[in-house]
Amino acid sequence: MVERLLILGGTTEAAEFARRADPLKGLTVITSLAGRTRQPAPLPGTVRRGGFGGVDGLVRYLRTERIGAVIDATHPFAVQISAHAVEACAAAGRPRLVLQRPPWIPQPEDQWHSVPDTQTAVRTLEPGDRVFLTVGRQELAAFADRTDVRFLARMIDVPETPFPDHFEIVTGRGPFSVADERRILIDHGITCLVAKNSGGEASYGKIVATRELAIPVVMIQRPAPPPGPVAETVEGAMEWLAAVCDE
Ligand code: NAP
Repeated sequence: MVERLLILGGTTEAAEFARRADPLKGLTVITSLAGRTRQPAPLPGTVRRGGFGGVDGLVRYLRTERIGAVIDATHPFAVQISAHAVEACAAAGRPRLVLQRPPWIPQPEDQWHSVPDTQTAVRTLEPGDRVFLTVGRQELAAFADRTDVRFLARMIDVPETPFPDHFEIVTGRGPFSVADERRILIDHGITCLVAKNSGGEASYGKIVATRELAIPVVMIQRPAPPPGPVAETVEGAMEWLAAVCDE
């Protein structure tokens, strides 16, 4: 019988899952956030922030907080916390589900250059490109040496440290409409988008806008998903939860 559920969060799906699971009778829902975003959107249930201190810290947390099951609803590119969850749940004997939305699939009109990682994305850019960079704050430094390219980088919070002159920063939190993304691409004379294949609706607007404007996309492919059961939808995760709660 699961009475306390830990959601490893930081995604739209994690928030939606918390909203669905929190009202369930007899279940306490705790969402864990890494703490990267200064003012995260409000969430139902209990919210904790900050790392656990590696695998050992997470094992300790699962035991002391009497967590009965874990939903790893972190972003598909958050590989370290997912790997820690695999190890910690195995060590503590807790059931774990990965909730991960499916990746975007290129449409016939899309001009994607699919690359395996950020480093390859950096090398793929052409001198003189005006790039819309939507890869998140932590990946930006990898592009800094491309002084032959100008970047428009979008992030949730204003960065604390200044960026080099060939970077312009815009802040924004999804969902982003196609119309707004089209406006950004046109107003800034963007010639190339660099994005992670995150999947989901909230950030798909930019993909539609690049398709409409025939702008090429350097698409960073996802790392392999963590092992074990995976649900692609919140509904699927709710079914898994119902099954483990009945055990
Ligand atoms: P990461 O590289 O996989 O994890 C680095 C460390 O951050 C982990 O070892 C863990 O520290 C801590 N951590 C990460 N997620 C955590 C969580 N939900 N709760 C508590 N600690 C967490 O993670 P990341 O790629 O930096 O992503 C951080 C957060 O941002 C995640 O919640 C993720 O869902 C969200 N996010 C990431 C991306 C992306 O592109 N990577 C995009 C959107 C949202 P300890 O070892 O100390 O436990």
